[in-house]
Amino acid sequence: MTPGSDKAARDLLTFYVEAGVDAALGELPIDRFADVAPILEPVAPRPAPPAPVRQAQVMPATQAPPPPEEAIMAARAAARSAATLEDLRAILNGFEGCALKTTAKQLVFGDGSPNARLMFVGEAPGSEEDQQGIPFVGRSGQLLDKMLAAIGIARADVYIANIVPWRPPGNRDPSLHESQICLPFIQRQIELVDPDVLVCLGKPSMATLLGVTDGIRRTRGRWFPFHTGTREIRATATFHPAYLLRTPIEKRFAWKDFLAMKKALAS
Ligand code: URA
Repeated sequence: MTPGSDKAARDLLTFYVEAGVDAALGELPIDRFADVAPILEPVAPRPAPPAPVRQAQVMPATQAPPPPEEAIMAARAAARSAATLEDLRAILNGFEGCALKTTAKQLVFGDGSPNARLMFVGEAPGSEEDQQGIPFVGRSGQLLDKMLAAIGIARADVYIANIVPWRPPGNRDPSLHESQICLPFIQRQIELVDPDVLVCLGKPSMATLLGVTDGIRRTRGRWFPFHTGTREIRATATFHPAYLLRTPIEKRFAWKDFLAMKKALAS
């Protein structure tokens, strides 16, 4: 390391941490249990030539997650086989088709009443959710709780889940493939909770569940029919609480949306 490069490296690390990066990942998975030759050369030269670094650094194809189409098919079959929410949780826990599972601390399945009439679906767990295994417990979740309280509904009486049940590393957005692989599970979760009203929190949830690709500002406040698999319910979308924390002026629209949810539950 050249003089000054130590500080430069530290500054770069600080920058990454402040930007939310908290996991160091390469392009390819590494099997750290594989029996590989040491990468560093010994300090003293050895008489025999060093053993070549084996390709085993890269996880053999057989251990890599299945390709997305295969994983989506596997997810559909697995989700269909769940008869209850607890079945679904156990099945998801054992599902190996989504690489997010390997970097997340734990599964963040769902929270609230399994008999809820109102269900919210966000995008993906964040750091706090990953630590606790419960969706929407960080700052966004606290705001969601307050918005619910403002319309006279307790968090314990609704059901909350995410499109993707594992935290993406460094809080990055889930990829399209990751969302598509997890989609059958959240669809089945909605079917099993069987709410009367479904609310997508933010555009990614809205686009994935409702297939609406317009912006959230244009779409919030509108109602859509949603087929759970067993019946048609009402679905809508509103701003994600994380966005409202950054843009509090939009809370006035979120307030209207929450009043509309209350009205829909009463009708
Ligand atoms: N944001 C989400 O979309 N989901 C959570 O669970 C937390 C934050």
